[in-house]
Amino acid sequence: MEKETTKCLIIGSGPAGYTAAIYAGRANLCPVLYEGLQPGGQLTTTTDVENFPGYPEGISGTALMEDLRAQATRFGTDIRYGIATAADLSKRPYQITIDDEKVIETETLIIATGATAKYLGLPDEQKYAGMGVSACATCDGFFYRKKVVAVVGGGDTACEEALYLAGLASKVYLIVRKSYLRASKIMQQRVMENENIVILFNHNAVGLYGENGVEGVHLLENVAGVEKRYDLPIDGFFLAIGHKPNSDIFKPYIETDEVGYIITEPDSPRTCVPGVFAAGDVADPHYRQAITAAGSGCKAAIEAERYLSELGLLKSV
Ligand code: NDP
Repeated sequence: MEKETTKCLIIGSGPAGYTAAIYAGRANLCPVLYEGLQPGGQLTTTTDVENFPGYPEGISGTALMEDLRAQATRFGTDIRYGIATAADLSKRPYQITIDDEKVIETETLIIATGATAKYLGLPDEQKYAGMGVSACATCDGFFYRKKVVAVVGGGDTACEEALYLAGLASKVYLIVRKSYLRASKIMQQRVMENENIVILFNHNAVGLYGENGVEGVHLLENVAGVEKRYDLPIDGFFLAIGHKPNSDIFKPYIETDEVGYIITEPDSPRTCVPGVFAAGDVADPHYRQAITAAGSGCKAAIEAERYLSELGLLKSV
């Protein structure tokens, strides 16, 4: 298999990966960045980003990522298409296989592979993507001021999203497939006490309808085997049934929590493998924001530079 060596390899092209690339490039680490399955990351699937500092008028998710990409390129990042398909982090230099056909040997690795929001798998979720279907209330909730929305899920994320949306929308339906919420007691209490939130227990969303965007959801209620189907008019449909961190290939070497989020040292992107850093959503079950991802990407690049410096490997870059 073809082999190549580098000092700093970044995997992922969301805000964490590109910010790491900007800092690593400016530190003269000549980083190589592989974009992964979804070039530009999750923000390319959203519409306008209005909460990234520096854009008072907002910016489209795609445009923001193009800007970050251009900035990373400006400082010498070698950006490539390709997906990391295997990893060997048992010893330095670490080996990452790209597209099952090429091995990159690297002294430092920044894992910025993100997390993927889970969807129900309904064809209508694709059909109305960006037209009323979202998996991020903080990103898109603002567009539903004084409108009616539904959130699917019964965990802490769903409750958090429902509460956030309840401050904007006129009504929030929480669609829960079981007869109870899985969320923590305090979140359950907040949701129950919120007048804007109506919980639909024992309900599943089975489809969406609408002419030029979501106008309603087809629901299936199932109470003790008795089924009832009906339609509920809504303007926005939010998924909050969990995220899957894209950490699978690293799990044999790197500590993760039970969901798969990479565990790093507190307030640091350092993983349990020296020289391997994790930034952005792959290591963040709590905030999952573009700006926090960018911040952790910055930290990861600074850590990589310090690590290489301590090993005396910077001079030959
Ligand atoms: P969870 O896995 O905890 O909950 C997922 C929810 O989605 C469950 O109610 C589940 O239903 C439901 N669900 C899953 N698949 C489907 C489906 N196909 N159809 C309908 N419903 C479905 O994920 P979260 O993202 O909520 O939380 C992940 C972790 O992050 C948790 O540990 C949580 O505590 C933590 N977290 C903490 C927060 C905080 O402390 N503020 C905020 C957000 C998350 P069911 O119960 O039936 O399986």
